[in-house]
Amino acid sequence: MRRVLSAIAATTFLATCGASSDRDISGAQTKRPTLTQAERTTLAKVQFGAAKTPAATTPQAIGGYAKGCLAGAEALTETGPTWQAMRLSRGRNWAHPNTIDYVQKLSRFAATQPGWEGLYIGDMAQPRGGPMLTGHRSHQTGLGIDVWMLPPQRLNLTASERENISSISTRRARGAYTNDNWTPAHMNILRAAAKDSRTARIFVFPGAKVAMCDAETGDKSWLNKIRPWSGHHYHFHVRLNCPKGDTACVSQPAPPKGDGCDDARKWVRDILDPPPPDPNAPPPQKRRELTLNDLPAQCTAVLRAD
Ligand SMILES: [Zn+2]
Repeated sequence: MRRVLSAIAATTFLATCGASSDRDISGAQTKRPTLTQAERTTLAKVQFGAAKTPAATTPQAIGGYAKGCLAGAEALTETGPTWQAMRLSRGRNWAHPNTIDYVQKLSRFAATQPGWEGLYIGDMAQPRGGPMLTGHRSHQTGLGIDVWMLPPQRLNLTASERENISSISTRRARGAYTNDNWTPAHMNILRAAAKDSRTARIFVFPGAKVAMCDAETGDKSWLNKIRPWSGHHYHFHVRLNCPKGDTACVSQPAPPKGDGCDDARKWVRDILDPPPPDPNAPPPQKRRELTLNDLPAQCTAVLRAD
């Protein structure tokens, strides 16, 4: 847990640092524009949530995964040869072009798996990234992808079917174990996703990580990128590294060395037999909602761009 906390602290530090210093990550001075009254007082999620088109500039992930935005986003085509984007009404099938390429490649692999026609892709980012009105703290820079656990039987779902069909849960015992919906194909797809050098981390429930630790008979090094997390049993979340050349993109320290299987097993034991609550634990703090001033200065330009 300490490792998790220090990783979070490091990320927060980087994000805070980038947002308050008026310097981008490359060290270049970035002039923070003067905000209008509305820009100052309206929550960033409202402003980014209202953007229906991408900023037509060079593609760039800006800021941190949970405190940033996205310029020059590309839409994932709603239906491709090996994928469908789901929940189209949410307008979150946007991402960095690098991410779009990644999704397409992974979906081609998924289509080789028995019972899988490809992938159903859930939320990525808004057209200009940034915080969202509902859900997700971390899909802000166009480098995050939610991949549904439901094996696509067909890729001709209508828009209305894509609103109404649900994914399937792959866990039981509150995430300590996988259930009967979990198949070797899930593991093969997660392995392929982790082995892509563009991947920084993949979040999935602890029981799935342990199941894969136990089932992998070959090289286990890819399991390093599979990070156990709460939830994440209807979908897994892929977080990509900052694309090369995106100097304002803030990445995260690499996961701790090793396959992480023992940590995941400990998490599973704690699910099954929860330790007593720590009486000295500080009360959970409610996160403050982000405003434009919390985000890198370039995000104001992204919001204002044509
Ligand atoms: Zn996600």
